[in-house]
Amino acid sequence: MAVNPTLALGIATCFLKDENRENFSDFTVCVGDRTFQCHRYLLSACSGFFQALLRSDMKERTENEVTLKDVSPDTFQLVLDVIYKAADVLTKENVIDVWHAACMLQIDFLTNYTESFLTPCVTVDNYWDFYTNAILLNSSIVKKSCLDTMATSFIDLTGTEHFVDIYFDDLYEILKHNNLCVCPDFVVPAIARWVKHDTTNKEADPGTEKETQVIEEEENNRYDCFEKLFSAVNMKQLSKQELINLMTDPKLAEHKNAVIHINNVAAQRLDTTWQFGEPTYIYQNGRNTLNPVFNSQKLCQHCNRKYTPNM
Ligand SMILES: [Zn+2]
Repeated sequence: MAVNPTLALGIATCFLKDENRENFSDFTVCVGDRTFQCHRYLLSACSGFFQALLRSDMKERTENEVTLKDVSPDTFQLVLDVIYKAADVLTKENVIDVWHAACMLQIDFLTNYTESFLTPCVTVDNYWDFYTNAILLNSSIVKKSCLDTMATSFIDLTGTEHFVDIYFDDLYEILKHNNLCVCPDFVVPAIARWVKHDTTNKEADPGTEKETQVIEEEENNRYDCFEKLFSAVNMKQLSKQELINLMTDPKLAEHKNAVIHINNVAAQRLDTTWQFGEPTYIYQNGRNTLNPVFNSQKLCQHCNRKYTPNM
């Protein structure tokens, strides 16, 4: 049945009348030192968390009261303002807290709303904060926005302590990203630094179970990541000097898989006499012709030289 917007607005206006709210309340939510008089029907309609709680045989259902942890009274008040008044409560200051509360309480429309609010707010100053929250809350849309910014600001990113903590799949996405404008001579040493980072030294935060799990999975196998990470970079355009640095890195030389992947790169590099700034040619129909990918060259933000990204 189609929703009539005029009728929907009329119903919403009745709901929004403050004086109606305390009447008929049949459920109490305790948050910190405050109590909120609420309505089972509305909580259950909006929140998967409350729906499950109120359908279960847990004591909260018979006692008509629940105590919430992991959310502040101020944030819960904002959530109630949304579900009772459809109030536009989000600000840059409170959006992360409301996002966490919406996810915890499984209020899908509010989660989606906070994520739409957050996505354009990702900047070079806050992407790491948003990235870690996006992983914690399993938000692909916010994470994508963070990866867009990380690719655009790759030089800045590699200069931060966080760079080595990026997850493998996300680093791979950044290396393939169209926004990335740095040549292999900048990217490859950064990859080597990420690979060599000792993940076992990182203190596990008991609050972030997922993060701990990923770190354990990655433990000792970052050296196996070279092949896929290199595949995102046009390794034929790595300069001889950077290739030598890679081949003579004592820490990389200790790992058999790393040596195999670096040797593969060296073999590709032997295949070409390409120098920076020169177009590449391909042999076609009995003669050398300009490689069409030359037209898609980018200017490296780091060294200001032209390079051809991996196509
Ligand atoms: Zn460069």
